[in-house]
Amino acid sequence: MSSFILVTGGTGYIGSHTTVALQQAGHQVLILDNLSNSSVSVLDAIAAISGQRPDFIEGDIRDATVLARVFCDYRIDAVMHFAGLKAVGESVQFPLRYYDNNVHGSLQLLSAMQTANVRTFIFSSSATVYGDPQFLPLTEDHPLSSTNPYGHSKLMVEEILANLYQSEDYWRIARLRYFNPVGAHSSGLIGEAPQGIPNNLMPFVAQVATGTREHLQVFGNDYDTPDGTGVRDYIHVQDLADGHVAALKHCLNSASELLTVNLGTGIGYSVLEMVKAFERTSDTSIAYKIAPRRPGDIAACWADTLLAEQTLGWKAQKGIQEMCDDAWRWQRHFASREKP
Ligand code: NAD
Ligand code: UDP
Repeated sequence: MSSFILVTGGTGYIGSHTTVALQQAGHQVLILDNLSNSSVSVLDAIAAISGQRPDFIEGDIRDATVLARVFCDYRIDAVMHFAGLKAVGESVQFPLRYYDNNVHGSLQLLSAMQTANVRTFIFSSSATVYGDPQFLPLTEDHPLSSTNPYGHSKLMVEEILANLYQSEDYWRIARLRYFNPVGAHSSGLIGEAPQGIPNNLMPFVAQVATGTREHLQVFGNDYDTPDGTGVRDYIHVQDLADGHVAALKHCLNSASELLTVNLGTGIGYSVLEMVKAFERTSDTSIAYKIAPRRPGDIAACWADTLLAEQTLGWKAQKGIQEMCDDAWRWQRHFASREKP
Protein backbone atom coordinates (compact mmCIF):
# COMPACT_ATOMS: atom_id res chain seq x y z
CA MET A 1 0.00 0.00 0.00
CA SER A 2 1.62 3.30 -1.01
CA SER A 3 1.68 6.13 1.49
CA PHE A 4 0.17 9.60 1.28
CA ILE A 5 0.43 13.01 2.83
CA LEU A 6 -3.05 14.11 3.90
CA VAL A 7 -3.56 17.78 3.01
CA THR A 8 -6.67 19.27 4.60
CA GLY A 9 -7.85 22.38 2.77
CA GLY A 10 -5.74 21.28 -0.20
CA THR A 11 -7.94 22.89 -2.87
CA GLY A 12 -7.52 26.28 -1.14
CA TYR A 13 -4.92 28.93 -1.85
CA ILE A 14 -1.90 27.78 0.17
CA GLY A 15 -2.92 24.11 0.23
CA SER A 16 -3.02 23.85 -3.58
CA HIS A 17 0.46 25.33 -3.98
CA THR A 18 1.78 23.06 -1.24
CA THR A 19 0.18 20.04 -2.89
CA VAL A 20 2.11 20.81 -6.08
CA ALA A 21 5.35 21.28 -4.11
CA LEU A 22 4.78 17.99 -2.26
CA GLN A 23 4.13 16.13 -5.51
CA GLN A 24 7.23 17.65 -7.06
CA ALA A 25 9.21 16.45 -4.02
CA GLY A 26 7.98 12.90 -4.70
CA HIS A 27 5.04 12.61 -2.28
CA GLN A 28 1.56 11.31 -3.07
CA VAL A 29 -1.16 13.63 -1.82
CA LEU A 30 -4.68 13.00 -0.57
CA ILE A 31 -6.75 16.18 -0.24
CA LEU A 32 -9.66 16.49 2.19
CA ASP A 33 -11.67 19.67 1.61
CA ASN A 34 -15.32 20.62 2.08
CA LEU A 35 -15.07 23.14 -0.82
CA SER A 36 -16.51 25.91 1.37
CA ASN A 37 -13.90 28.32 -0.02
CA SER A 38 -12.49 26.58 -3.09
CA SER A 39 -13.47 24.77 -6.24
CA VAL A 40 -13.02 21.17 -7.30
CA SER A 41 -11.61 22.47 -10.61
CA VAL A 42 -8.37 23.23 -8.71
CA LEU A 43 -7.63 19.49 -8.93
CA ASP A 44 -7.40 19.76 -12.75
CA ALA A 45 -5.09 22.74 -12.45
CA ILE A 46 -2.85 20.89 -9.98
CA ALA A 47 -2.74 17.92 -12.36
CA ALA A 48 -1.87 20.21 -15.27
CA ILE A 49 1.11 21.61 -13.33
CA SER A 50 2.49 18.47 -11.70
CA GLY A 51 1.26 15.81 -14.13
CA GLN A 52 -0.37 14.04 -11.19
CA ARG A 53 -3.96 14.33 -9.97
CA PRO A 54 -4.10 14.21 -6.18
CA ASP A 55 -6.61 11.85 -4.57
CA PHE A 56 -9.56 13.86 -3.30
CA ILE A 57 -12.26 13.39 -0.71
CA GLU A 58 -14.96 16.02 -0.38
CA GLY A 59 -15.62 16.19 3.33
CA ASP A 60 -15.36 18.19 6.51
CA ILE A 61 -12.60 17.91 9.10
CA ARG A 62 -15.27 18.10 11.82
CA ASP A 63 -16.88 14.89 10.54
CA ALA A 64 -15.44 11.99 12.59
CA THR A 65 -16.93 9.40 10.22
CA VAL A 66 -15.19 10.89 7.20
CA LEU A 67 -11.91 11.12 9.12
CA ALA A 68 -12.13 7.49 10.26
CA ARG A 69 -12.68 6.46 6.63
CA VAL A 70 -9.70 8.51 5.45
CA PHE A 71 -7.32 6.92 7.95
CA CYS A 72 -8.75 3.44 7.33
CA ASP A 73 -8.63 3.58 3.51
CA TYR A 74 -5.23 5.28 3.16
CA ARG A 75 -1.81 4.83 4.65
CA ILE A 76 -1.05 8.36 5.85
CA ASP A 77 2.52 9.36 6.76
CA ALA A 78 1.74 12.91 7.84
CA VAL A 79 -1.00 15.52 7.91
CA MET A 80 -0.68 19.10 6.66
CA HIS A 81 -3.57 21.03 8.12
CA PHE A 82 -4.68 24.07 6.10
CA ALA A 83 -8.48 23.69 6.40
CA GLY A 84 -10.06 26.53 8.30
CA LEU A 85 -11.58 29.97 8.12
CA LYS A 86 -9.28 32.99 7.88
CA ALA A 87 -11.09 36.35 7.71
CA VAL A 88 -10.43 38.45 10.81
CA GLY A 89 -13.49 40.71 10.42
CA GLU A 90 -15.82 37.79 9.79
CA SER A 91 -14.43 36.06 12.89
CA VAL A 92 -15.57 38.99 15.04
CA GLN A 93 -19.06 38.71 13.53
CA PHE A 94 -19.31 34.90 13.71
CA PRO A 95 -17.00 33.77 16.53
CA LEU A 96 -18.69 30.40 17.06
CA ARG A 97 -18.25 29.51 13.39
CA TYR A 98 -14.53 30.26 13.73
CA TYR A 99 -14.00 28.28 16.94
CA ASP A 100 -16.01 25.39 15.49
CA ASN A 101 -14.06 25.21 12.22
CA ASN A 102 -10.61 26.09 13.47
CA VAL A 103 -10.50 24.69 17.00
CA HIS A 104 -13.10 21.91 17.05
CA GLY A 105 -12.06 20.91 13.51
CA SER A 106 -8.40 20.63 14.56
CA LEU A 107 -9.37 18.60 17.65
CA GLN A 108 -11.36 16.15 15.55
CA LEU A 109 -8.46 15.78 13.16
CA LEU A 110 -5.89 15.26 15.93
CA SER A 111 -8.16 12.70 17.67
CA ALA A 112 -8.52 10.75 14.42
CA MET A 113 -4.74 10.86 13.95
CA GLN A 114 -4.17 9.61 17.49
CA THR A 115 -6.54 6.71 16.92
CA ALA A 116 -4.86 5.86 13.62
CA ASN A 117 -1.39 6.27 15.15
CA VAL A 118 -0.36 9.00 12.70
CA ARG A 119 1.75 11.49 14.66
CA THR A 120 3.29 13.92 12.19
CA PHE A 121 1.39 17.18 11.93
CA ILE A 122 2.16 20.45 10.13
CA PHE A 123 -0.06 23.31 11.25
CA SER A 124 -0.91 26.59 9.46
CA SER A 125 -0.46 29.24 12.10
CA SER A 126 -0.05 32.94 11.53
CA ALA A 127 2.06 35.94 12.50
CA THR A 128 -1.19 37.31 13.93
CA VAL A 129 -0.33 35.36 17.12
CA TYR A 130 2.35 38.00 17.89
CA GLY A 131 -0.30 40.73 18.31
CA ASP A 132 1.06 44.29 18.20
CA PRO A 133 4.85 43.85 17.86
CA GLN A 134 6.96 44.95 20.84
CA PHE A 135 10.11 44.66 18.71
CA LEU A 136 11.09 43.90 15.14
CA PRO A 137 11.99 41.63 13.48
CA LEU A 138 9.63 39.19 15.17
CA THR A 139 11.44 36.22 16.68
CA GLU A 140 9.53 33.09 17.60
CA ASP A 141 9.92 33.88 21.31
CA HIS A 142 8.16 37.25 20.98
CA PRO A 143 5.23 37.40 23.47
CA LEU A 144 1.94 36.10 22.06
CA SER A 145 -1.47 37.76 22.07
CA SER A 146 -4.55 38.08 19.93
CA THR A 147 -7.35 40.57 19.62
CA ASN A 148 -9.96 38.69 17.59
CA PRO A 149 -11.52 35.20 17.41
CA TYR A 150 -9.43 34.22 14.36
CA GLY A 151 -6.20 35.00 16.22
CA HIS A 152 -7.51 33.31 19.38
CA SER A 153 -8.32 30.19 17.37
CA LYS A 154 -4.74 30.00 16.05
CA LEU A 155 -3.28 30.53 19.52
CA MET A 156 -5.60 27.91 21.01
CA VAL A 157 -4.57 25.28 18.45
CA GLU A 158 -0.89 26.15 18.99
CA GLU A 159 -1.40 25.51 22.72
CA ILE A 160 -3.36 22.31 22.15
CA LEU A 161 -0.44 21.06 20.05
CA ALA A 162 2.06 21.93 22.79
CA ASN A 163 -0.09 20.08 25.37
CA LEU A 164 -0.37 17.07 23.09
CA TYR A 165 3.38 16.99 22.58
CA GLN A 166 3.95 17.26 26.35
CA SER A 167 1.61 14.32 26.93
CA GLU A 168 3.05 12.05 24.21
CA ASP A 169 6.48 13.10 23.03
CA TYR A 170 6.53 10.81 20.02
CA TRP A 171 4.52 13.42 18.14
CA ARG A 172 6.35 15.36 15.44
CA ILE A 173 4.68 18.74 15.15
CA ALA A 174 5.53 21.91 13.23
CA ARG A 175 3.66 25.12 14.00
CA LEU A 176 4.36 27.35 10.99
CA ARG A 177 3.69 31.04 11.49
CA TYR A 178 3.04 32.57 8.08
CA PHE A 179 3.57 36.22 7.39
CA ASN A 180 1.62 37.64 4.37
CA PRO A 181 1.27 35.05 1.60
CA VAL A 182 0.82 36.64 -1.84
CA GLY A 183 1.34 35.82 -5.51
CA ALA A 184 0.34 32.73 -7.40
CA HIS A 185 1.89 29.75 -9.12
CA SER A 186 4.20 30.87 -11.93
CA SER A 187 2.14 28.76 -14.38
CA GLY A 188 -0.82 31.10 -13.80
CA LEU A 189 -3.03 28.04 -13.23
CA ILE A 190 -3.60 28.30 -9.47
CA GLY A 191 -3.82 31.31 -7.19
CA GLU A 192 -6.00 33.08 -4.67
CA ALA A 193 -9.65 33.42 -5.64
CA PRO A 194 -11.40 35.38 -2.88
CA GLN A 195 -15.18 35.40 -2.87
CA GLY A 196 -16.75 38.86 -3.04
CA ILE A 197 -14.76 41.96 -2.11
CA PRO A 198 -11.19 40.96 -1.19
CA ASN A 199 -10.12 41.72 2.40
CA ASN A 200 -6.42 41.46 1.64
CA LEU A 201 -4.29 44.08 -0.05
CA MET A 202 -2.85 42.21 -3.03
CA PRO A 203 -6.03 40.62 -4.42
CA PHE A 204 -7.70 44.03 -4.10
CA VAL A 205 -4.85 45.78 -5.94
CA ALA A 206 -4.99 43.15 -8.69
CA GLN A 207 -8.72 43.77 -9.14
CA VAL A 208 -8.14 47.53 -9.42
CA ALA A 209 -5.54 46.80 -12.12
CA THR A 210 -8.07 44.79 -14.16
CA GLY A 211 -10.76 47.45 -13.69
CA THR A 212 -12.98 45.21 -11.54
CA ARG A 213 -12.65 47.72 -8.67
CA GLU A 214 -12.44 51.48 -9.11
CA HIS A 215 -9.83 52.30 -6.50
CA LEU A 216 -7.93 50.93 -3.53
CA GLN A 217 -8.54 52.32 -0.08
CA VAL A 218 -5.21 52.71 1.71
CA PHE A 219 -6.05 52.15 5.35
CA GLY A 220 -4.06 54.89 7.08
CA ASN A 221 -1.05 57.01 6.05
CA ASP A 222 -0.16 58.25 9.51
CA TYR A 223 1.58 55.17 10.92
CA ASP A 224 5.10 55.44 12.28
CA THR A 225 6.59 53.95 9.09
CA PRO A 226 8.76 55.54 6.37
CA ASP A 227 5.79 56.57 4.16
CA GLY A 228 3.08 56.39 6.83
CA THR A 229 1.34 53.31 5.39
CA GLY A 230 1.33 49.83 6.96
CA VAL A 231 4.40 47.64 6.49
CA ARG A 232 4.18 43.85 6.10
CA ASP A 233 6.41 40.89 5.25
CA TYR A 234 4.92 39.61 1.97
CA ILE A 235 6.00 36.10 1.02
CA HIS A 236 5.49 34.39 -2.34
CA VAL A 237 3.10 31.47 -1.92
CA GLN A 238 5.48 29.10 -3.75
CA ASP A 239 8.23 29.94 -1.25
CA LEU A 240 5.73 29.28 1.52
CA ALA A 241 4.85 25.93 -0.06
CA ASP A 242 8.54 25.00 -0.22
CA GLY A 243 8.81 25.90 3.48
CA HIS A 244 6.15 23.27 4.20
CA VAL A 245 8.04 20.61 2.29
CA ALA A 246 11.17 21.50 4.28
CA ALA A 247 9.21 21.34 7.56
CA LEU A 248 7.77 17.95 6.62
CA LYS A 249 11.22 16.60 5.79
CA HIS A 250 12.55 17.91 9.10
CA CYS A 251 9.71 16.28 11.06
CA LEU A 252 9.94 12.95 9.21
CA ASN A 253 13.65 12.84 10.07
CA SER A 254 13.06 13.52 13.79
CA ALA A 255 12.08 11.01 16.45
CA SER A 256 10.20 13.69 18.37
CA GLU A 257 9.65 17.36 17.58
CA LEU A 258 7.68 20.44 18.49
CA LEU A 259 8.95 23.08 16.11
CA THR A 260 7.59 26.62 16.00
CA VAL A 261 8.94 28.66 13.14
CA ASN A 262 8.30 31.83 11.16
CA LEU A 263 7.81 31.58 7.41
CA GLY A 264 8.50 35.05 6.02
CA THR A 265 11.17 36.84 4.00
CA GLY A 266 12.47 39.11 6.74
CA ILE A 267 11.76 42.20 4.61
CA GLY A 268 8.91 44.66 5.13
CA TYR A 269 7.18 46.62 2.35
CA SER A 270 4.63 49.39 2.75
CA VAL A 271 1.20 49.50 1.11
CA LEU A 272 2.42 52.20 -1.28
CA GLU A 273 5.55 50.23 -2.17
CA MET A 274 3.35 47.25 -3.07
CA VAL A 275 1.08 49.48 -5.16
CA LYS A 276 4.10 50.88 -7.05
CA ALA A 277 5.48 47.38 -7.66
CA PHE A 278 2.13 46.24 -9.02
CA GLU A 279 1.94 49.28 -11.29
CA ARG A 280 5.33 48.33 -12.76
CA THR A 281 4.21 44.75 -13.34
CA SER A 282 0.80 45.51 -14.82
CA ASP A 283 1.77 48.69 -16.64
CA THR A 284 -1.38 50.29 -15.27
CA SER A 285 -1.96 53.05 -12.80
CA ILE A 286 -3.56 51.85 -9.56
CA ALA A 287 -6.00 54.48 -8.31
CA TYR A 288 -6.06 54.79 -4.54
CA LYS A 289 -7.55 56.99 -1.84
CA ILE A 290 -6.27 57.40 1.68
CA ALA A 291 -8.88 56.06 4.10
CA PRO A 292 -8.97 55.86 7.92
CA ARG A 293 -6.93 53.17 9.65
CA ARG A 294 -8.60 49.75 9.65
CA PRO A 295 -9.54 48.77 13.22
CA GLY A 296 -7.16 46.17 14.66
CA ASP A 297 -4.35 46.84 12.13
CA ILE A 298 -0.78 47.18 13.35
CA ALA A 299 1.80 49.58 11.90
CA ALA A 300 4.52 47.16 10.89
CA CYS A 301 5.44 43.52 11.04
CA TRP A 302 8.22 41.40 9.60
CA ALA A 303 9.86 38.12 10.45
CA ASP A 304 13.15 37.08 11.90
CA THR A 305 13.99 34.23 9.53
CA LEU A 306 17.09 32.82 11.22
CA LEU A 307 15.40 29.86 12.90
CA ALA A 308 13.81 28.72 9.63
CA GLU A 309 17.18 28.93 7.89
CA GLN A 310 18.99 27.06 10.68
CA THR A 311 16.44 24.31 11.36
CA LEU A 312 14.85 23.79 7.94
CA GLY A 313 17.61 24.96 5.62
CA TRP A 314 14.88 27.00 3.97
CA LYS A 315 14.94 30.62 2.88
CA ALA A 316 12.42 32.50 0.71
CA GLN A 317 13.83 33.09 -2.77
CA LYS A 318 11.29 35.23 -4.61
CA GLY A 319 11.19 39.01 -4.38
CA ILE A 320 8.43 41.58 -4.54
CA GLN A 321 8.48 41.89 -8.36
CA GLU A 322 8.04 38.14 -8.85
CA MET A 323 5.18 38.20 -6.33
CA CYS A 324 3.46 40.91 -8.38
CA ASP A 325 4.25 39.30 -11.77
CA ASP A 326 2.76 35.97 -10.72
CA ALA A 327 -0.27 37.57 -9.04
CA TRP A 328 -0.91 39.53 -12.22
CA ARG A 329 -0.54 36.49 -14.52
CA TRP A 330 -3.00 34.59 -12.35
CA GLN A 331 -5.40 37.54 -12.12
CA ARG A 332 -5.56 37.89 -15.91
CA HIS A 333 -5.92 34.13 -16.39
CA PHE A 334 -8.54 33.84 -13.68
CA ALA A 335 -10.44 37.00 -14.58
CA SER A 336 -10.61 36.01 -18.27
CA ARG A 337 -11.79 32.49 -17.35
CA GLU A 338 -14.59 33.93 -15.23
CA LYS A 339 -15.93 36.08 -18.09
CA PRO A 340 -18.92 34.58 -19.95
P1 NAD B 1 -8.30 29.10 1.82
O1 NAD B 1 -9.64 29.52 2.31
O2 NAD B 1 -7.92 29.42 0.42
O3 NAD B 1 -8.12 27.52 2.03
C1 NAD B 1 -8.72 26.83 3.11
C2 NAD B 1 -9.39 25.59 2.54
O4 NAD B 1 -9.98 24.87 3.61
C3 NAD B 1 -10.51 25.92 1.55
O5 NAD B 1 -10.33 25.15 0.38
C4 NAD B 1 -11.80 25.52 2.28
O6 NAD B 1 -12.79 25.03 1.38
C5 NAD B 1 -11.29 24.45 3.22
N1 NAD B 1 -12.04 24.30 4.49
C6 NAD B 1 -12.43 25.28 5.34
N2 NAD B 1 -13.06 24.74 6.40
C7 NAD B 1 -13.06 23.38 6.21
C8 NAD B 1 -13.55 22.29 6.96
N3 NAD B 1 -14.20 22.48 8.11
N4 NAD B 1 -13.37 21.04 6.48
C9 NAD B 1 -12.72 20.83 5.29
N5 NAD B 1 -12.25 21.84 4.54
C10 NAD B 1 -12.41 23.10 5.00
O7 NAD B 1 -7.22 29.69 2.85
P2 NAD B 1 -5.64 29.77 2.72
O8 NAD B 1 -5.26 31.20 2.50
O9 NAD B 1 -5.13 28.73 1.81
O10 NAD B 1 -5.24 29.45 4.23
C11 NAD B 1 -4.88 28.12 4.63
C12 NAD B 1 -4.55 28.13 6.11
O11 NAD B 1 -3.48 29.05 6.34
C13 NAD B 1 -5.70 28.58 7.01
O12 NAD B 1 -5.68 27.79 8.18
C14 NAD B 1 -5.34 30.00 7.35
O13 NAD B 1 -5.85 30.41 8.60
C15 NAD B 1 -3.83 29.95 7.38
N6 NAD B 1 -3.20 31.25 7.12
C16 NAD B 1 -3.50 31.92 5.97
C17 NAD B 1 -2.94 33.17 5.74
C18 NAD B 1 -3.28 33.96 4.49
O14 NAD B 1 -3.04 35.16 4.47
N7 NAD B 1 -3.82 33.34 3.45
C19 NAD B 1 -2.05 33.73 6.68
C20 NAD B 1 -1.75 33.00 7.84
C21 NAD B 1 -2.33 31.75 8.04
N1 UDP C 1 -4.62 47.32 3.26
C1 UDP C 1 -5.08 48.48 2.64
N2 UDP C 1 -6.19 48.39 1.86
C2 UDP C 1 -6.87 47.24 1.64
C3 UDP C 1 -6.39 46.04 2.28
C4 UDP C 1 -5.27 46.14 3.08
O1 UDP C 1 -4.50 49.56 2.82
O2 UDP C 1 -7.89 47.23 0.92
C5 UDP C 1 -3.40 47.39 4.09
C6 UDP C 1 -3.60 46.97 5.54
O3 UDP C 1 -4.02 48.09 6.32
C7 UDP C 1 -2.21 46.44 5.92
C8 UDP C 1 -1.69 45.83 4.60
O4 UDP C 1 -2.47 46.44 3.57
O5 UDP C 1 -1.36 47.52 6.27
C9 UDP C 1 -1.86 44.31 4.52
O6 UDP C 1 -3.20 43.99 4.82
P1 UDP C 1 -3.80 42.53 4.56
O7 UDP C 1 -5.26 42.56 4.90
O8 UDP C 1 -3.45 42.07 3.18
O9 UDP C 1 -2.98 41.60 5.56
P2 UDP C 1 -2.87 41.64 7.17
O10 UDP C 1 -1.44 42.01 7.44
O11 UDP C 1 -3.83 42.61 7.72
O12 UDP C 1 -3.16 40.23 7.56
